[in-house]
Order: sequence, then structure tokens, then C-alpha cells
Amino acid sequence: MQGERTRERDVGFERVNERVARITIPLAFFSVPVNVHVVLAERPLLVDVGPRTDEALERLGAGLDRLSLRLEDVADAVVTHHHVDHGGFLSSLVERSRARAWVHEDDLAQTLDVPGEIRRRAARYREVARLWGLSHEDVAGLARNYEGYAVYGGTTPRERLTPVKDGELLAIPGIRLRAIHVPGHSEGQIVLHDEDANALFAADCVLERVTPNPTVYIPPYRGRTTGLGDSLASLERLRSLPRDVLVLPGHGAPFRGLHARLDEIRSHHEERARGILALLAERKEATVVSLAREIWRGLRSEAVVLAAREVHGHLDILEQQGSVAREERDGAWMFRRAT
Ligand SMILES: [Zn+2]
Repeated sequence: MQGERTRERDVGFERVNERVARITIPLAFFSVPVNVHVVLAERPLLVDVGPRTDEALERLGAGLDRLSLRLEDVADAVVTHHHVDHGGFLSSLVERSRARAWVHEDDLAQTLDVPGEIRRRAARYREVARLWGLSHEDVAGLARNYEGYAVYGGTTPRERLTPVKDGELLAIPGIRLRAIHVPGHSEGQIVLHDEDANALFAADCVLERVTPNPTVYIPPYRGRTTGLGDSLASLERLRSLPRDVLVLPGHGAPFRGLHARLDEIRSHHEERARGILALLAERKEATVVSLAREIWRGLRSEAVVLAAREVHGHLDILEQQGSVAREERDGAWMFRRAT
């Protein structure tokens, strides 16, 4: 969730510099278009590929055409994380080109078989939503939404995909792209540091105006059900990058000032945690959803899910720190201040 959302411009195509171009693709399920970055390395490379829609196919074709390229010329495609806005088009890309695809090993299964993984995870997602204290009606709505994402991705043959590890320098000729594993928004999200150009393909790890939402880990990942703790640690990892790095985010325009943005996101979360503790002090106990509705008044039911993911994340961290206690009652988590 974010404090304020400024509408990101749908520029269609933008030449960022000699090396990189940005193609924006509108999304049916999110007000902010997603970026596909074209990198003119020795051979054309894409960072993220967009959702599997006719519009994405059209936009990619038109954008590549501005660079005198065709989809068939794409030699490599790095998918920063498995979400359909970033990786959904991969199955179509590998059908239309000989591109090699790269994705972190922890997002591999979800990227390879988008509809199958969504189907497999939906039941467990419903369970988590009930634990948040979401009404039956809202749980049904959430499940419908979640299962609806399946159409924006396909299945990709395993042999077309190379798994990436943290710290790896990708074996792509003519470019030194270092992968940094930044879990939290998904299990296997990576950002890529182009070491020669000092540019950071920042995926959804750090955006200029929006605070990326922590994911729900299904099944639990490294022992946790929420990605917020990992997200905060991932942001800290980026502090070791050069201060003047050019940030090329997954949504929105390129920007500089990575470290100032990291500070802002950190203080946003610190403030949120204090707010949650203050609310819990006033009330004997509360569910994730009741806290979310109190923090963000007048939430529409789709937005409740995003709010609940953030509150769930904070409560999980506060519980680990010993400030909050959790009890499961009638299928929902009840939280209170630990004494
Ligand atoms: Zn995204």
C-alpha cells in the first residue's frame, strides 16, 4: 500500500539512454502500467516481458520496431519475478523467438506454469484470507480475483528457462548484469545491477511513488507466511549500491536518489508499525482485517486484500519482536499487545 498514488504516465515508448528503452504496457487489473525494458547489449535483451495480452503483443512489437527490432530478435529475457504483469507474456515470447529466459530459482515453478500454480495456491490463499478475518463474501471475491490472473500467463517449457542465484553475473554476452535476490514481494524476486552503465533494474523492489506490497507466501517460505520482513531486509541490501545509480523500476519512470527513497520506505513502515501498536493498545484484541479497515477508512473490498497483506506483515514482525501475541480463534487470528 502507499500513502499517495500518483498516476504513472503511460508513455508507450521512451528511449532512456543509448543502451536502454522502456516500453509501457497498460494493465487491466492495476492503474499503473508495467515497464518492459529493452537493453541493447551485444544481442537484444528484455528485462520483464509484460502480461500475456493482445495489447502487450502490440506494444512490444511497436516498441521494438522503433529500435528496428522484431520480437524474434530478442535473445534473452530476464523475468524479475513471477507476477503476471512482469512474466505472463514469457510463454508467448518463447513461442515466437529463440529467446533464453532467466528467472530466480525460487520463482521458477510459478513462472513456468502460471495458470497451474495459481490453481494450486488458490485454496491455501482462501485459508489465509479467513485467518485475516475476511468475511465469506470477501474471501470469495478475493479467490475470484486471484484465479482471474491465470489468463494473463501461460506455460513455458522448462528447458527454455535458466534458474538464477543470488549474486550471479548472468552469462549474457556484452553486458555485466549482476542479480541480487530481493525476496518479499515474491519469493524469488531479483533486481539487476548493470555494472558498466551503473543502472539498476529495480523490478517491484523499489518504486518511486508506490510502496510495494508484501506478498503472502504460499506455501510458507523460509518459515514465514508474509513477505514484509524479507522486503525490509531486501531494501537494506540495496544500500550497498552506488549512490548515483540510475533506478529503472518495474512501474514508473527512471529516477535517481535510490538511498533517499530507501529511507522514505523504511520510515513509512516504521510509522505504520507504531500506528498498529497504538491501535492495539486501545483495543483488547483485533483481526488483521479490522485493523486494516481502521487504518484505511472506506476501503473497497479489492483494496482490503492489499491493506491486509501489509498489516499481516507488520503483525508478524511485531510478534517475532515480542510486542504482539497471536491466537487462532474460530478460524481467524486474534492479535493483542503482549504484556
Ligand atoms: Zn508489478
